Amino acid sequence: MADWQAQLSDLIEPALARSKATDAVRIGAGTLGQAGALAAQVTSQRKALVMADSAGFAAAGRPVVDALSAAGFAVQSLVLNAEPLPKASTQEAEPFRAALAADPDLFPVSVGSGVINDLVKYAAFVTDRRYLSVATAASMDGYTSAGAPLARDGFKITIPTRAPIALLADLDVLADAPAEMNGWGYGDLAGKIPAGGDWMLADALGVEPLDDVAWPLVQDHLRGWLDAPSGIASADRGSIAGLFIGLTAVGFAMEFHGTSRPASGADHQIAHMWEMEGHSHSGRKVSHGAAVAVGCVATLALYEWLLKQDLSRLDVAATVSGAPDLEARKRQLRMVISDPQVAGKAEAELAAKHAAPPVHQQRLERLTETWPGLRDRLARHLVPAGEMAQMLAAAGAPSHAHEIGVAPDHLMRTMNAAGFIRSRYTVLDLLHETGLTRAAFAAVLPGLCPITTRAAE
Ligand SMILES: [Zn+2]
Repeated sequence: MADWQAQLSDLIEPALARSKATDAVRIGAGTLGQAGALAAQVTSQRKALVMADSAGFAAAGRPVVDALSAAGFAVQSLVLNAEPLPKASTQEAEPFRAALAADPDLFPVSVGSGVINDLVKYAAFVTDRRYLSVATAASMDGYTSAGAPLARDGFKITIPTRAPIALLADLDVLADAPAEMNGWGYGDLAGKIPAGGDWMLADALGVEPLDDVAWPLVQDHLRGWLDAPSGIASADRGSIAGLFIGLTAVGFAMEFHGTSRPASGADHQIAHMWEMEGHSHSGRKVSHGAAVAVGCVATLALYEWLLKQDLSRLDVAATVSGAPDLEARKRQLRMVISDPQVAGKAEAELAAKHAAPPVHQQRLERLTETWPGLRDRLARHLVPAGEMAQMLAAAGAPSHAHEIGVAPDHLMRTMNAAGFIRSRYTVLDLLHETGLTRAAFAAVLPGLCPITTRAAE
């Protein structure tokens, strides 16, 4: 039995048993024809609405419609144009929401990947419906997560929704997806390495404890899921199955933890900045996974620099007294986030995490005392930035800013802004609280931008 098949029973089955949202997961070659039987197993409704964009429908829509019909469903479909690609926003979900609201007997079926799944997840949630998700690419970790990361009024937030009642992934369909899409999923999963580091920091400093359910679900097999990147690029079914199981496990971890902490740290904050800007490269919006891949390498580079510092010798009193107060931080925020709406929401996140002097001092005292052990644990957990960049390249994902059309000054602005947009504690906060942000950014920038021509923009 392949590793991934063993993980279906050892990892996914127990997660399903624990999940309050998801009853069934099917992952395997040729499973598309089971979509009807699976739907019949999880709903008593006998009318189905298949929702997709035209690319997703072309990949798997027809067989899903046929399978649902064969299982006795009266099937309608609602297909959005894939050119231009649907946006990840609550507004874009409106046609799906309206169709579901118009007929309470419809069982929603999503056929697609990131954005379509999130739009259907949101539309199903606001019309109080459960849904079946049919995956068309191993491109992100949101299939089984309870949240939908969508823009509302231009600000990207994770809207609390409900994970699908069932998830189906046909490995033949995933292998036929554009290779870059599975590369994006690899990038999204790779981000769990620095995100894990961020959680370790938050735990060690008494900000947010590690969780003994979500942590192992994501981290215990992570290196294994990431260790065959060339198999992702060559559409090897075993490698893609491992990747998809990893992404599915991450979704469950978010459900069990009730937040995206198990899946998202500074790497995702950097990515979210570009997503909120609607950043495009070569005429296309940069995907979530591609943005996370670049954020992942940037965050790992910061860690690599950090681990070389002897923080046990930090002058705590001088660092605390020299730190900007909340008002000064808000001014810094306004300098790096120009969009007034994004800045306004970020101010609330900043206020929630800003450490007043007594807390700041206590945190740094804890850091200096625990640093040698913490540094060793982080060194064992993390991957050097250069090594991760090679893995991402082998998987067909970008790793450096120029590959997604981000110039060095744009990268710097993004890294300066990213720490403000979520109250979640990450390495960006540690660098700020130790007064090391400027030194760290200056040290890592050349390595993150080996090609600096503005022509890349
Ligand atoms: Zn993600």
